This record gives sequence, structure tokens and C-alpha cells, in this order.
Amino acid sequence: MKIRAVEAYPFRLPPRRAFKWAGLNVDLGGFVLVRIETDDGLVGYGEATPLPDWGGDWGRHSGETLATVAHLVNAVFAPALIGRDPTAVTAARRLLDRLVIGNVYAKCAVDIALHDLWGKATGLPIYKLLGGAVRDTVPVAHMIGLMDEGDALREGVAAAADGVRSLQIKGGVDLDRDVRLTAALRHELGAGITLRLDANQGYGHAKTAVAAVRRLADAGVDLVEQPTTGLRYMAEVTAASPVPIIADETCWDINDAIDVSAARGADCLSIYLAKAGGFVGAGNVARLAAAQLMRCDVNGSIESAIGTAANVHFALAHPAVDLGAVIAISAPAGRHPCQVAGRYYEDDVLAEPMAVKDGAILPLDAPGLGIVIDEAKLARFRCA
Ligand SMILES: [Mg+2]
Repeated sequence: MKIRAVEAYPFRLPPRRAFKWAGLNVDLGGFVLVRIETDDGLVGYGEATPLPDWGGDWGRHSGETLATVAHLVNAVFAPALIGRDPTAVTAARRLLDRLVIGNVYAKCAVDIALHDLWGKATGLPIYKLLGGAVRDTVPVAHMIGLMDEGDALREGVAAAADGVRSLQIKGGVDLDRDVRLTAALRHELGAGITLRLDANQGYGHAKTAVAAVRRLADAGVDLVEQPTTGLRYMAEVTAASPVPIIADETCWDINDAIDVSAARGADCLSIYLAKAGGFVGAGNVARLAAAQLMRCDVNGSIESAIGTAANVHFALAHPAVDLGAVIAISAPAGRHPCQVAGRYYEDDVLAEPMAVKDGAILPLDAPGLGIVIDEAKLARFRCA
């Protein structure tokens, strides 16, 4: 089996409501599709969700856009991949690293499509290629975007009513607001819900961030994600914090994870397939975390069904990934299983909704990504 064609193009999904976080100035809901065909008729799908204004500490990672990802895949990666065995995934990823430095979103989209093909070629869902499931379901953490306090409280209460047991609250712009909202959610929802505040680096210098984390802990927060910027400040906050600190912007790949580990820069790691360039790189981060008893989540930029399915397979297969996953629950229009939880888009490119039980996504058991892509929808949502 050989790769016959590789194509990438942007598409957009209609959002349920506006979603924002600190530093995000573009609309969520833009993606790049990667579609890889083999000479025996199999089709693999991958996806990237690059955000031009989100990246690593001190501007050290990313800067990719829908246009750069589509261009790289079509103009640089496609010619190099055509004729190769799509199931030789690690070799293909090494090839992409030799062609271009960085650009991990573009590489991740190709990596996901190759895993989809590998699964389809062998008749196995991706999580089985990764070693099999270590959990029965993937519990979802619903993200409450930066929004009016009253709306945020209502969004959290509604998501909990849908069954999720974990919320990721976006903050980092106004600490007083974050403390009030955390306390209000704790009061409304009680002790059984995990509340995680994501400051997206927003609490400034280490000392102000330490003070912020202590106030949030007093208000009932369980975990604080990325309170400050850079490894040194993260390590200071982690040492002083009464609650676990999660590294997101500070930790992209295995090299960042080694640095975080050596500096004690966080208690937990937030893994995106894209930050590590796909399943192989993200798996390295998850194994390093597991070896040090660090808990992880799988997270991202609210992917379409393609990236979400990839995240579900990853979380099923990695023991360290046991924090609520900040991912969508994907469903076509009119068929979403929840009112609010995991519901970021009003439509998606898969034919059947993902199955959910008690706020957790059930395994996708068909070969590859385990979802059927609605090609007519993809064509409709394709950007000019
Ligand atoms: Mg984050």
C-alpha cells in the first residue's frame, strides 16, 4: 500500500456561542483538513486547529495559521509523502522533521491522517494501535470561555446538569472576577465537581501569580492551569501553591516536559497532540509524565470531530491522561447528546454523534479514527 494523494484545505464549523480566552483574538472554529488517499482506495483524515496568537512561553512555539498549515502540507509535505507506506508512521514523522523545523500543527494533522490509515489498513481503532484502552471512557471537562460572570455560572451549571464532573474555567484577565466565579460555581455545584482555572499566563510575575493561586484555592479551585509565564516563574508558583499547577503553554513536547520535570515547573501536564506534532510525540510526553506520577489531560483548541476522535483514542490508551479532557463531544446538527457540555459547534463533519455516558465519551471502536466522515458536509464547510 502506497500513498497516492495528499490534500489540505481550511474549513469552518458554526459555533454554538462565542468562545474566548485570555490572549485569544480570533474566532474559534477554523480548521485545516488533511486527506490522504492510498493506491488501494483507503482514505485517512487529519486535522489542525492552529491559532495565530496562541503559542509557547515568550513566543517560542507556533505562530502557525490555517494558511501556513494548508500551504506546508500541499506544497512541501505532499510531494515527499506520495509513494510512501502510510503505516510507517514514525518514519514519515521523521521525514517531516527533516523537511521543515517546527510547524507542529501541520505535522500533527498529517500524523493523525496516517494513524487513521494505519488503523483502517489493519482493521483496528487507533487506541488499540497505541496499546489498547486503560480506561473504559474518556471523561470530559467542559470549557467555560471568558464571558460575563452570570453567563459563565449558567454555562457551568448547565454543563454539570449534562453530566460532566469537571470544568475548565477560562480566566487570567481579572483575578477578582475569577475568584468570585470559582466561589459561585463551588457553591452551586458542591464538592463533587473538579474546578480548574486556566489563566493562560495571565497572573503576571511569579509573586502576583502565587497570591492569585492562593486566593483561588481559598475560593475552592482544585487545580490552576498556567498561572504565569515561563519555566522559572512556573516553578516558583508550583513550589508555593496549595493546589496542583498544570503546565500548558510552558510544555509542548518531550523536551519541554523534561525541562518542566527537572525544574519542578508544574505538577501536571496539559497534552495536545498538536503541541507535540502528533501521536508519537504526545505519547512520549505522556510516558514521561507516567514515570513521574504526574497527571495529564488531553486538551487542544476545541477540534472538529477528526481531532476530537484522535484525542479520545489518545486518552483511552495513556495511563497518565486521567484529568478531565478539555475536548468537544462531536455530533452532527440536531443530534448533540448534551445541551451544553462539550457542545461548542452546532454542526460537525461526522455522520453519527459520539456516544456519551455520565459526561464521558465512549470508545470509538471502528478502524482508524473510528468515525464516519460526512464528505458532503466537509465540502459545505470548506473555506473559499
Ligand atoms: Mg490552557
